Amino acid sequence: MKIHQIYTDNELRNFNYFIELNNKSAYVIDPWDAKSVTNFISDNCLKLTAIINTHEHWDHVRGNQALVDLHHCEVWAHANGKGKIPGLSRLLLNNETIDIADNVSIEVLDTPGHSHAHLCFIVKVDGNPHCIFSGDILFNAGVGNCHNGGDVLDLYKTIKNKISTLSDEVIVYPGHDYLENNLKFTLDREPSNLLAKKWLDKYKQSDIYTNPLITTIADERNINTFLRLDNKEIINNLPKKIQSEKEVFINLRELRNSW
Ligand SMILES: [Zn+2]
Repeated sequence: MKIHQIYTDNELRNFNYFIELNNKSAYVIDPWDAKSVTNFISDNCLKLTAIINTHEHWDHVRGNQALVDLHHCEVWAHANGKGKIPGLSRLLLNNETIDIADNVSIEVLDTPGHSHAHLCFIVKVDGNPHCIFSGDILFNAGVGNCHNGGDVLDLYKTIKNKISTLSDEVIVYPGHDYLENNLKFTLDREPSNLLAKKWLDKYKQSDIYTNPLITTIADERNINTFLRLDNKEIINNLPKKIQSEKEVFINLRELRNSW
């Protein structure tokens, strides 16, 4: 099994991903552009089995219909995406495990907050979590917004109960590249965060087209403000006196909205 991360070079900075299996079948996550997906599939002699959508927003389903027409592939997504996700053919359930090869499976997590039709997908190899396709719930060093059908309390619960509980080694594959801005927000809230500074330097030297930076959940615990809700510096820098983690999260999300 191989995972390919593709930067789509549009102004929203979307990432697309392919899961390539040894038998040459492939899955694409959130296809931006049918033509480039099709080129990738044919260049690598693959067969497109299914599109997997993290959620219904247009920039995540933009390539669906043309790919279904061309490849006759399935489309897997959240039941709440019905009527919004082109070609939707399989409604996925929370905690469902889908075996896609002898030793590779996908675990489905219902992850509301950014929208009510949002799923994250954990790819497991030999039963061990390898990576998460986190859509617009978890970004590198940040979390998604709640502007288009989302809910900040749902987002808090999803991050607390389903994301921050993942094991350290899980690789994060988000829906967009917002790493630079997110690190700057982290440093705005927590100026003494040396690891965030290091990641920002690394980001500036990296090439998103050939080798995008990837983080793990362990990295996220260090550089993602939204996973550091008990950090004294972050709490003390908030404009209001706040005690509970939930309020810290909501306040940080508000600050990030206008930052
Ligand atoms: Zn979205």
